[in-house]
Amino acid sequence: MKKILVTGGAGFLGSHLCDQLVSEGNQVICLDNFFSGSEQNISQLLPLSNFKLLIQDVTRPLKMEVDEIYNLACPASPRLYQQFPMETFKASILGSMNLLDLAKASGAKIFQASTSEVYGDPQLHPQSESYFGNVNPIGPRACYDEGKRGAETLFFDYHRQHQVEIKVMRLFNTYGPRMSATDGRVVSNLILQALQGQDLTVFGDGSQTRSFCYVDDTIQAMQLMMDTSKECTGPINVGNPAESTILELARLILELTGSKSKLSFLPAGADDPLKRQPNIELAQKELSWQPQLALQEGLLKTIAYFQSYLN
Ligand code: UDP
Repeated sequence: MKKILVTGGAGFLGSHLCDQLVSEGNQVICLDNFFSGSEQNISQLLPLSNFKLLIQDVTRPLKMEVDEIYNLACPASPRLYQQFPMETFKASILGSMNLLDLAKASGAKIFQASTSEVYGDPQLHPQSESYFGNVNPIGPRACYDEGKRGAETLFFDYHRQHQVEIKVMRLFNTYGPRMSATDGRVVSNLILQALQGQDLTVFGDGSQTRSFCYVDDTIQAMQLMMDTSKECTGPINVGNPAESTILELARLILELTGSKSKLSFLPAGADDPLKRQPNIELAQKELSWQPQLALQEGLLKTIAYFQSYLN
């Protein structure tokens, strides 16, 4: 069995990945500083002998012997990262450098959770991996976007210069159980508002689009990529190409929850991308992967999670 380090392992994606890796019998070390992750997400794993929690910041150098590293450590919600830009930028850049050094020293494969934000407010639609993006380097989202772009640079330079085996995946919006109830993402916000009879907050006119992928599909893609041959470095887009406007999402959530809530239109955030949809041809080809769960089914599972969260 493999020894696997998951940074950001107590976060939304990280905890689902740890669940999966632990259930396959691997020795899993979950590193998290609980900045945006929570102990509750991994409480089911804590008693298990093949799971170890390390409460530490990725910006501090690490020494250990591992076979694989998944780097998921970074605040990912626009509300949170705009409130803590330095912490966000450092987590991406210093975190990546430390983990790449660790990968180099221990001969481990290393996966980087990159993001569709590297495309910024895209002028190409849908976005494919060859598109270089349209990012404002000095805007309020830059700490995240440029941090993740810089991390990709580091990954590819370590690969070229030191032959580190890298796997870079660009994740588009992912949703599901264990999304933070307080970080202001659109799916969690709208579901919680609908369940509590509050107005659903739609930023701008709601015509901006996102493509939402259910968490289990995303985790499967990550594991498939880790198991590809050395030559498969990415970047590979992973997301659900089914695109919807925020207004469509809000209406679907009202329908699925049976809520009588109204919509409340608020000003759009600065540099909020207007369109986002992955071209996933590369993931289909390299990973033989494509998302299985439709938005409606995934939302029902997420609604059930937030219902029990509120009770
Ligand atoms: N959004 C919204 N209402 C909310 C939260 C977000 O209309 O309560 C919008 C936001 O402006 C953006 C989209 O939903 O256009 C997705 O936002 P989120 O923060 O979930 O993720 P992003 O894709 O921007 O990183």
